[in-house]
Amino acid sequence: MSKYKIEIDRELCIGDGACCGEAPNTFEMDADNVAVVKDPNGHTDEEILQAAQVCPVDAIKLTDAKTGEKVWPK
Ligand code: SF4
Repeated sequence: MSKYKIEIDRELCIGDGACCGEAPNTFEMDADNVAVVKDPNGHTDEEILQAAQVCPVDAIKLTDAKTGEKVWPK
């Protein structure tokens, strides 16, 4: 079970698919070419963090599901 709550800002996403390339079991593109969460447990927490970090516009927000602490973007 991922420790992150994953949110994607649909307004920010530019549809480049970088997150899906990095973590294809967790992220996918929807019909509007915007990234969505396919399976929040599709990858390890470290891999999900890396996928969030490759987003060029910081559209992927990660918070610690338990503490509510903001993890990414910093
Ligand atoms: S990396 Fe960021 S901008 Fe690119 S598809 Fe994923 S959420 Fe959208």
